[in-house]
Amino acid sequence: MAEQKVWLITGASRGIGLEIVKAVLATGDQVIATVRRSPEILLDQLGNPANLYVGILDITNEEQAKEAADQIVSKFGKIDVLVNNAGYGLLSAVEEASSEEVRKNFETNVFGLLNVTRAVLPHMRQERSGHIINISSVGGLSGYIGWGVYGSTKFAVEGITESLALELTPLGIHATVVAPGFFRTDFLDASSLISSDLVIPDYAETVGKMRDFAAAANRKQPGDPIKLAKAIIKVANSGKPPVHLPLGNDSLQRFREKTAEFERDIANWHDVITGTDHDDV
Ligand code: NAP
Repeated sequence: MAEQKVWLITGASRGIGLEIVKAVLATGDQVIATVRRSPEILLDQLGNPANLYVGILDITNEEQAKEAADQIVSKFGKIDVLVNNAGYGLLSAVEEASSEEVRKNFETNVFGLLNVTRAVLPHMRQERSGHIINISSVGGLSGYIGWGVYGSTKFAVEGITESLALELTPLGIHATVVAPGFFRTDFLDASSLISSDLVIPDYAETVGKMRDFAAAANRKQPGDPIKLAKAIIKVANSGKPPVHLPLGNDSLQRFREKTAEFERDIANWHDVITGTDHDDV
């Protein structure tokens, strides 16, 4: 029988995080699910199974992240899989987003993810094993109208994870960055999505239309978070997990288009690109 793994999953109150929690619980692995408030609600909702522990964690609180990781390791001995899932979207033209709205989005999606990663890694390094799975977005692969700031937080997550993979592989630890397309959760709902306070009429035909699209797509997204959760388990149980994993046909299509765009730019600008080295190289 496979050894029981210990999972730490952030942002577990709803959406993708909740579905990953449910799917991992069903495998019999130990789950530490973290929520910002009222852990008893999640425990009740999931029927208080023996392999579930629910802790409080606002990922923007570095001290809380460190305490959570230390407590988990003293209670369960190790953390095998960290799923950095907690995050939210900011829908705004780049110019419309205030400094505070931008900072808050980075505070959660990037600095929060780093807080939890720094809290967990000393324990994984000690074990010389573990897997960090970071939830990015198709918006972290490619720019979209209205998602420039949110996308830039996810571009950061992509870059951080690529470097983590290089730094951690020699220490026996895997890192994977998952880029979901649109999945049916609260992500596009007013209960999660922040829209900038400032709306500039000049962006009505671009960002305004994206705002309309997002409102219309809420609850009709193609991606199924239950299936996403199964994919995450497959990746975590693979001996050779990928560094990059786009999830959903929409994400894959964008990934392929972006790769083709890069290749086109290289072909069109090859002489300029290769013409900048010193003559003695
Ligand atoms: P969701 O249903 O809105 O769930 C977001 C989760 O993140 C909630 O549990 C929320 O907790 C938690 N959260 C937000 N800020 C937090 C913080 N500071 N500390 C701790 N938890 C926090 O959205 P979702 O679709 O499941 O999103 C999960 C992840 O997938 C996010 O990183 C998102 O960017 C990414 N993603 C989603 C989609 C999509 O289409 N659904 C696509 C690409 C990427 P509360 O309940 O306390 O608010």
